[in-house]
Amino acid sequence: MPDRQAGVGGQGQRIVVVGASLAGIRTAEALRSAGYAGRLTIIGEEPHSPYDRPPLTKGFLTSADGHNTFPALTRAQPDVHWLLEKRAEQLDLDSRRVLLHTGESIPFDGLVIATGSAARTLTSAGRPDSRPPTANGVHLVRTLDDAIALREALRRGPRRVAVVGAGFIGTEVAASVRSLGLAVTLIGPDEAPLARAVGTQVADHVARLHRTNGVDLRMGVPVEELETVCGTVAAVRLADGVAIDADLVVLGLGTTPCTDWLSGSGLLLQDGVRADRWLRALWNDGTPVSGVVAAGDVVRWPHRLYDDSLVRVEHWSNAALQAPIAARTLLNELAGRSHAPADACAIVPTFWSDQYDSKLLSVGLPHLGTTQTLLDGDAPSGRLVVGFGRGMQMVGAVAVDQPGPLATWKRHITRGGPWPPAIQRPEDTRRDHAATQ
Ligand SMILES: Cc1cc2nc3c(=O)[nH]c(=O)nc-3n(C[C@H](O)[C@H](O)[C@H](O)COP(=O)(O)OP(=O)(O)OC[C@H]3O[C@@H](n4cnc5c(N)ncnc54)[C@H](O)[C@@H]3O)c2cc1C
Repeated sequence: MPDRQAGVGGQGQRIVVVGASLAGIRTAEALRSAGYAGRLTIIGEEPHSPYDRPPLTKGFLTSADGHNTFPALTRAQPDVHWLLEKRAEQLDLDSRRVLLHTGESIPFDGLVIATGSAARTLTSAGRPDSRPPTANGVHLVRTLDDAIALREALRRGPRRVAVVGAGFIGTEVAASVRSLGLAVTLIGPDEAPLARAVGTQVADHVARLHRTNGVDLRMGVPVEELETVCGTVAAVRLADGVAIDADLVVLGLGTTPCTDWLSGSGLLLQDGVRADRWLRALWNDGTPVSGVVAAGDVVRWPHRLYDDSLVRVEHWSNAALQAPIAARTLLNELAGRSHAPADACAIVPTFWSDQYDSKLLSVGLPHLGTTQTLLDGDAPSGRLVVGFGRGMQMVGAVAVDQPGPLATWKRHITRGGPWPPAIQRPEDTRRDHAATQ
């Protein structure tokens, strides 16, 4: 959290946060914690109070209770002016205003861009799309409304569910659907589920986990088209001509950052809002825009720990940890203070995924790795830790049902530790594990 000294008390100042989810809410909380006493407005297009997304592919889908209760996100209620069910349509940086779909125009001195990302879809001809699916029986899982619709469709007892996309969303949905006792086919273009995110060793384990639990895995073949009959999905046709019979299809095809509303604003948009090390949004010419920061799934920034590689990270912990950094940067901007190198955003994110009785935990950015090695455990036992390196540096680690050693590897990665690391003696691992209990 920024210290209170860093705050600006300016009663007359106006900060506007666009995006009423994790990054937006946590930034608002951090602004108040830092002593910001001016006007704080949060704009969000969804109709619900802010909620947490991770349960939507997990317990929310399988829970027996019929209520649409959902995991609320707001911890403390910072003194906020809420503008929910309002979509930001345009950003005017000359007049420093956000224009809403209602025609309202909201002025600001400081702006937080926290509009996250939206689920990618597929046209019936199998091409990536950003529009909502039109065929009946085709579902996404990004928002609470998506998850409510999918849960209701699952309760109606589909004959066979096909999950297209075997990343985190796809694999978690497949596991949840299986645990409801329904027939599931999981389809992905890579050799094994999650291979891009966690590497082949862990991905092989994930494939075994799904097969053991009765999922029909169709990996290594892209989807050609969704077949429909009278507007309702009937099958998923693969590029090799095989048609997978399905009366319910869930698309887990990754995301696109929500930056439509920023086009024409002069901001540099490159697979997200391009920002500098302090999360300040950049103009098209690469210089920082005064008083405009971005946080969460939407921001792409140079990560100091990874040779200033540009990264956009779609993990819960990344959004939560960027929030206080964005708040500090914004308050420094508004107060005309300079930005210290130590305040740069160099988060080592963590990610978890629950599938059946198994827990996957990841630290750092394994996908940046060019080599991987088993650091602990073994594949047959189903408890393993795999490390990832790039050049001489360790960049990430993934553990399956073995969370203890990850604390050690997180410290190693945070220090920019060497790759390959000296393999730990088991007693070191046990000591580090005990320290995290
Ligand atoms: C189903 C699901 C499960 C997940 N599970 C995990 C997990 O197990 N572990 C993990 O680490 N991470 C998980 N994640 C990722 C994590 O939830 C995200 O990284 C996190 O939500 C990012 O927060 P954010 O605030 O940046 O973006 P978002 O949560 O996407 O919020 C952005 C908000 O901005 C709003 N918005 C967009 N455009 C506009 C506009 N023009 N005007 C107004 N409002 C707008 C959106 O409607 C949305 O409410 C999961 C994500 C999903 C979808």
